[in-house]
Amino acid sequence: MNAAAARVLAASADAAAGPREGAVDGPQADAAAGPRADRPARTAAHTDAAVQALRAALGDDGVLTGEAIPERCHTDWSGHAPARPAALLRPRSTAEVSRALAICNEHGQGVVPQGGRTGMAGGAVPRPEDVVLSLERLNRIEELDPAASTMTVQAGVLLEQVQQAAAEAGLLFALDLGARGSCQIGGNIAANAGGLNVLRYGPARDQVLGLEVVLADGSVLTSLRKLIKDNAGYDLRQLFVGSEGTLGIITRAVLKLQPRPRSVQTLLVALPGFDAAVRLLRRLQASYPVSAFELMWQDFMRTAFEWQAGRRAPLAGTHPFYALVELDGEADAVQGTLAEAADAGLVLDAVLAASLADARGLWALREITGEFPTRLEPINFDLSLPVGVIGAFAERCRAALSRRWPQHRSLFFGHVGDSNLHLTVDGRSIAGAPHAEVDALVYELLREVPGASISAEHGIGLLKRDWLAHCRSAEEIAAMRRIKQALDARAILNPGKVLA
Ligand code: FAD
Ligand code: ZN
Repeated sequence: MNAAAARVLAASADAAAGPREGAVDGPQADAAAGPRADRPARTAAHTDAAVQALRAALGDDGVLTGEAIPERCHTDWSGHAPARPAALLRPRSTAEVSRALAICNEHGQGVVPQGGRTGMAGGAVPRPEDVVLSLERLNRIEELDPAASTMTVQAGVLLEQVQQAAAEAGLLFALDLGARGSCQIGGNIAANAGGLNVLRYGPARDQVLGLEVVLADGSVLTSLRKLIKDNAGYDLRQLFVGSEGTLGIITRAVLKLQPRPRSVQTLLVALPGFDAAVRLLRRLQASYPVSAFELMWQDFMRTAFEWQAGRRAPLAGTHPFYALVELDGEADAVQGTLAEAADAGLVLDAVLAASLADARGLWALREITGEFPTRLEPINFDLSLPVGVIGAFAERCRAALSRRWPQHRSLFFGHVGDSNLHLTVDGRSIAGAPHAEVDALVYELLREVPGASISAEHGIGLLKRDWLAHCRSAEEIAAMRRIKQALDARAILNPGKVLA
């Protein structure tokens, strides 16, 4: 935080003070297990034949094999055990994706779509017998329509490129997350990514007006419409948002753009407790459009300060909770609101960024999560539960972890306004216990919370597949299976992901 930062509430503060394992050992839910015995066993010869046909269709340059496949394509950000796929497909157009899938379908060949491979659920990790289909060559922004306030893009465009193109046109693409420089818009949509602005703008699902999707048999569903209202039959487009590459491959999208907010304020607030945080959030929302409310428990912030030791801490002392807030409002008014909140005992201290550099400095504290894989052995959770119970749940969770592993190191944080609690347990602090034991402990506790979900935004992929029945009924899973069967009868798309 540089010296220009406006420190607010200095006077009132006192007064107010009062790499993951490959195997998933979770319970195999009966409801999630499907009949597979009737499928003929695939051999290496089947895969070789499929790859040969793919090479004939896409050319040598479009199909890489063996050592030519970059190692980064062997796994994703989840750190799931890597595997070199049988081939890497690099189609240049929707027509080539279609041709590739038609061939794979004919050969019963498993296909794993890959975007930027920043997913946290292992959804883009191949098995040795799969082919990976990369969207990296579908990387054009095709059109920006100012009247409709839309952008039409190919799936492989990076999120950051979309954001920049919107900004250059004086507009905002509202989806934002730490992996913006690496993740692709197709991956964001396939994962229904949430991120930092969900509170105001909703997740990826709400940013998509039209989609082009290639189905398993190679047929192309093009609904690149720019309509806000469109009630003509089932909304097929939304079926593919969040389907994690299991129902179709997204090749193009029409994205909704927003007006740019007029006066964005970024503030870091120290809070006495969880309930105060929620009350502050609601108070701020009553006066301003709030786009981000990122809550960080003390252990998270202590780690952030420790890892950024070279920089001056934006707030002195340590406090039970911190919220990084972004909202649209005038600085003076926001300072007034914070002072009132401090008088009401909701806020202990606060700092308002006075420049873009200040704001980036505050966000850097929250975005230490990008360093987790190199500094920790992260066991990540992405839980969704009603906002009001998150604080008590986090305490129960911490107590249960402490009873089992007194030395455990756990970091609690999250997009709390979106009902989303993240928890990262450092695998090095649990005395060599399998990560699945931590999963079991946390998910069993979560199951006691009515209406909770094991994934708020990262998806199910491979890592959470066997826990799906903790938050979806047998009937819901059976309906998912029927949809999968209807769209991908030979189960070639992202085999083994989401549904076992
Ligand atoms: P990938 O990881 O390549 O793929 C994700 C899934 O989508 C896989 O199942 C894959 O098979 C499938 N897929 C990819 N492209 C396509 C396509 N074109 N068609 C069909 N299926 C496809 N997520 C959040 O929601 N909120 C956050 O705040 C957030 N922060 C993050 C911060 C960091 C530092 C990192 C590394 C990740 C974060 N994520 C977050 C995870 C997030 O899901 C991904 O970053 C992103 O949405 C995935 O995009 P990707 O292009 O990397 O997809
Ligand atoms: Zn998140």
